[in-house]
Amino acid sequence: MQLKKIEIKGFKSFYKKTFLIFPKSKNEEHGITAIVGPNGSGKSNICDAVKWGLGVQSKKGFRSKKSKDVIFAGSSLKKPLSSAYVSLYFDNRRKKIPLDYENVIITRKIYASGENEYFINNGRAKLKEVLQILGQAGIGQQSYSIVDQGMADRLLLVNPLERKKIIEEAAKVKHFQIKKEDSLKRLESSQINMDKARALMEEINPRLKYLKTQANKKIKQAKLEKEYREKAKQYFGILRKKLLDKKKPYLDNKKNLEKELSSILSEIEKTRRQLAEFSQKATPEDSQENKNQEKLAEMREAENNFFRQKSVLEGKIEILNDKIDFQKSISRQKVDLPYVEKKLEQLLQEIDKLAFKKTPAIADLKIIREATLKLKNELTEGLVKKESLSLIADLEKEIEENRNQNKLIEEKLAKFSQEKNILIQKIKEEDQKKAEEQLASRELEKKFDAAIRDKDLLQEKIKNSEIELARIEVDENNLRKKVLSSLNISVEKINYQNLAGKNLNQLEEEVEKLSQQINVCEAIDWEVVKEFKETSSRYNFLEKETADLKKAIRSLKKIIKSLEEKAEKRFTAAFTKINKDFNKYFKIIFKGGAASLIKIENNDSDDKKNSTQIGIDIKAVPPTKKIKNVSMLSGGEKALTSLAFLFAIISNSKPPFVILDEVDVALDEANSIRFSRIIKEIAKETQVITITHNREIMKEAQLLYGVTMQKDGISELLSVNLQPGAKE
Ligand code: ATP
Repeated sequence: MQLKKIEIKGFKSFYKKTFLIFPKSKNEEHGITAIVGPNGSGKSNICDAVKWGLGVQSKKGFRSKKSKDVIFAGSSLKKPLSSAYVSLYFDNRRKKIPLDYENVIITRKIYASGENEYFINNGRAKLKEVLQILGQAGIGQQSYSIVDQGMADRLLLVNPLERKKIIEEAAKVKHFQIKKEDSLKRLESSQINMDKARALMEEINPRLKYLKTQANKKIKQAKLEKEYREKAKQYFGILRKKLLDKKKPYLDNKKNLEKELSSILSEIEKTRRQLAEFSQKATPEDSQENKNQEKLAEMREAENNFFRQKSVLEGKIEILNDKIDFQKSISRQKVDLPYVEKKLEQLLQEIDKLAFKKTPAIADLKIIREATLKLKNELTEGLVKKESLSLIADLEKEIEENRNQNKLIEEKLAKFSQEKNILIQKIKEEDQKKAEEQLASRELEKKFDAAIRDKDLLQEKIKNSEIELARIEVDENNLRKKVLSSLNISVEKINYQNLAGKNLNQLEEEVEKLSQQINVCEAIDWEVVKEFKETSSRYNFLEKETADLKKAIRSLKKIIKSLEEKAEKRFTAAFTKINKDFNKYFKIIFKGGAASLIKIENNDSDDKKNSTQIGIDIKAVPPTKKIKNVSMLSGGEKALTSLAFLFAIISNSKPPFVILDEVDVALDEANSIRFSRIIKEIAKETQVITITHNREIMKEAQLLYGVTMQKDGISELLSVNLQPGAKE
């Protein structure tokens, strides 16, 4: 990769647009370009322009206090400019710059405001991008591409540690170190983060454990509730079944009893009706029985009357017959009147006695008495005798009449007797019937009483059943309430089938236990579950983070180790080569002698293996001299030793180009010749642009740029192609 062209405009003393073109030699060698000119003409400004164009930020790097100081500040003849730019043109055919362009132009522009702009192939870019692609092409700020006067001396005078750093830079281990440092930082922060995460985990852990048990309990609640419901249903199912079993016989019994009672009640009703019928039959006053009895009484009364009439008639007839006999006796014999009178008197007394006894025949007796009395009177008066014969006839007639009457009465009595007998028979029959009925009624009453007793007994039994059922109902109600409060369902929903194998006591214990467990769970807030989830996810996150960090730490340690190994390998290789080249260039420059780099190791460590290099020392002994320390070298010797070291570094890092700004200033003619030889050697692999006053070096150059500055304070460029055939 070659720096093909430098374009400068407004930068420092380069007021005008100025090009420095670096053609390749015919044999494609990179060649040497010498920039020459009087002091203060602006040669070093070209060097500064390249540095600036490569993105250098440090002000002292290119000798300006402020960044905007690089803009042409004006002169007695020219006004200051408001902006400046530098464009660096690279041949990128070998794609050292990681861009898919054969030519890459890097441009940096600055405005009076101090604002910088960067362009890659005229496209706006960031400084970082510019530095990145240039770094990858090996054109770094520390690659010793641009070496000014003091730098070579500094290489020799720096302390061993800084020198070691220079070699490390040349060995390009810097990015390994950066990476390592970055990895170390990351390792440290990972370690810190891991420690933090672990501390947090330790802090969280006890709470998490507590939350976990609580949350598990809470989460288990649903399962417990389900189990509780199942067990409680079984438990209540058995209780329900027991109650139903207990209730059934009472219900059946009650039903049967009620059925029995109902039939007994209808029986009682029937009997009651029958008894009512009987009592109705027995009581009425105008019953046939009474009528018959009345009739019989009447008949008996009438019969008695007839009997009395008959006896009166018979008495009459007897009297009449006596009368007739008396009359006949009278008529035939003399009548003993006092005797008749006495007899009549007795008869009258008898009649009176009779009349006194039988009141209904009083009238007849009265008639008899009066007749007897008349007779007596007539006897007394003596009339009887005279009338006796006619009387006898009359009497006989009367007897006949009475006999007829009596006959009628007898006929009537016979008829009466017959009727009476019929009536008596009838009454008898009725009495018989009545007696039978009374018997039946008594039987019915007995039956009625028995039925009432049965009814009472049944009612008692029903009542007893009802009392038992009421007791069961109380138990059922309790069960209903319990089921409702425990399961929030009606007891009817409790299945009581297929529970044969279940043990009530065991179920009761299980239900009680589950209930207690649920109570414990219920006491736990759902917030606990939420907190557990959050804490758990936090813990898991920390755990994952710790695992990731552990992995990262392991991988970082591995990376660091590998980086260290790579860096060490590369450093060792670079150190070996630089050491060899240093000796080579030293020998060229000093025509002999020996120079070497010596590693200074820290031997404080007990473990030899772990000894660390703390720096690089320089040993340089020109021929025929016995020098123990570089500080013993002369100024020129020091400068030459520095250059040998510088070229050893350059030949190792092989930058695409080097700009050497008057590094040869302290050399005498002989050393200048040697120096030019080394430059020639370097130029085989690296494009060399050297700002010099040295004629020996100018002689080696293929192209010469002359820088001049007139009174206007503006640098002007003049090119002289010293090697024919050089091409752009
Ligand atoms: P020497 O051979 O003595 O080292 P040189 O040729 O390298 O000299 P430079 O250091 O490149 O010279 O240039 C110095 C000149 O550039 C000075 O004259 C200075 O005034 C001029 N210069 C520096 N910065 C600016 C600027 N911002 N504007 C105008 N001119 C500037």
